[in-house]
Formats: sequence, structure tokens, C-alpha cells
Amino acid sequence: MCLFCKIVEKEIPSNLVMENDEFYAFHDINPKAPVHVLVIPKIHVDSFNELTGEMMKNMTSFIQEVALKTDIKEAGYRVITNVGDNGGQEVKHLHWHVLGGAKLKWGHFSDANAKDFF
Ligand code: 5GP
Ligand code: ZN
Repeated sequence: MCLFCKIVEKEIPSNLVMENDEFYAFHDINPKAPVHVLVIPKIHVDSFNELTGEMMKNMTSFIQEVALKTDIKEAGYRVITNVGDNGGQEVKHLHWHVLGGAKLKWGHFSDANAKDFF
């Protein structure tokens, strides 16, 4: 069982934000912003590459509720999912990073010259 499946099963403790039948939201152990919540499907999905529209259907409103509950919805926030090696995905169970609580920086994503690609 993967790390996040163990968190869903409560075999590994986590700081819960909210959950329903399909999804689980908990605070990131190494927060990158004042609010840094991870939202995951309760069933194991490797990454965004394996996500279907059907599975995504209720995730949108769940993430919006997380933003409301953590009091970042009005001021603004960022939703990110890292995919695979180049995306920097460390945990191979699909998760959305929900980040907010302060003005976020827009990162330096790659040393490759982006202009070479268009
Ligand atoms: P990734 O790099 O895969 O997009 O993000 C994985 C995230 O999971 C990281 O931000 C990391 O801090 C977080 N993380 C890793 N292990 C644990 C854990 O055991 N508990 C919690 N709450 N977060 C974790
Ligand atoms: Zn899993």
C-alpha cells in the first residue's frame, strides 16, 4: 500500500482538513505556504495521467470547499498537481497541492531556455 493510501486508512496519522466518501484533504507535512493542503482521492490513482473525467467530477467542488474551509478562497490560492519525474512527483498517489494564505511567488521552473520551444 502506498504512503497516501496508508494515510487514508489512518495507518499513518495526518492532520485532517476534511473528507467525504471520495476524497481526503490533509495538511502537508512540509508546508510551502501558510496554507498547504493535499487533496487526494481515497482510491489509489497513480497520477493525473490516470485520472478520468468521471473521477474528476466531484473533485472540483471538494477543492473549492477546502479553500473555503481554510479561509483562502476569497484572497486567492493555487492548485497544483505534479506529474511524473519531470513534474517532480515524489508520492505516486495523485494529489492536488492547495496553496495559499499569502501572496505566492511564480517559480523558476526550469533551467532550459523556454524560448527554444516556440
Ligand atoms: P509531490 O512532490 O509528490 O508533488 O508532493 C508530495 C508532498 O507530500 C510533499 O509536499 C511532501 O511534503 C508531502 N508529504 C510526504 N510525506 C508526507 C506525510 O507522511 N504526511 C504528510 N502530511 N505529507 C507528506
Ligand atoms: Zn495510494
